[in-house]
Amino acid sequence: MPQPLKTYNVHMGGVDLFNQFVSQYRIRIRSKKWWWPLFSWGIGAALVNGWRLYRALGNDISLLQFTRECSQEILGKFGIPSIGPGRSLVLKKNAFNQQRYDRKDHWLYKSDKQFGRCKNCGRRSIYRCEKCHVPLHPERHKTYHIVS
Ligand SMILES: [Zn+2]
Ligand SMILES: [Zn+2]
Repeated sequence: MPQPLKTYNVHMGGVDLFNQFVSQYRIRIRSKKWWWPLFSWGIGAALVNGWRLYRALGNDISLLQFTRECSQEILGKFGIPSIGPGRSLVLKKNAFNQQRYDRKDHWLYKSDKQFGRCKNCGRRSIYRCEKCHVPLHPERHKTYHIVS
């Protein structure tokens, strides 16, 4: 048993209270890995210890708040962007491409706004596709609308 934990137990009324804290905001992620329960308990134990220490240093904060802030800190540093928005972005792009290649009603019109970068060649164009709302050049716009 690590020293801080031992000291804590002596002073705070034993393992029962400690376990009670750890299980209070237990990690609810499930995994089939045999070591997962040990690992997630370890994180919980580290959180409780850290929290006790943080409070001992004069910070009045609840275990929930402490856990929340630690999680956000760790996710901010090591997390990958959540699947939600990322996936919806891909879906959006797929939907857009489906429309882009549907060969229906892609009429070019002269934009009354400003020039935009042509999606084909990157040069400035005043024309846009009515359906895709992207700048294009009339001569070559088929290239944009046909899967190459
Ligand atoms: Zn062009
Ligand atoms: Zn189009």
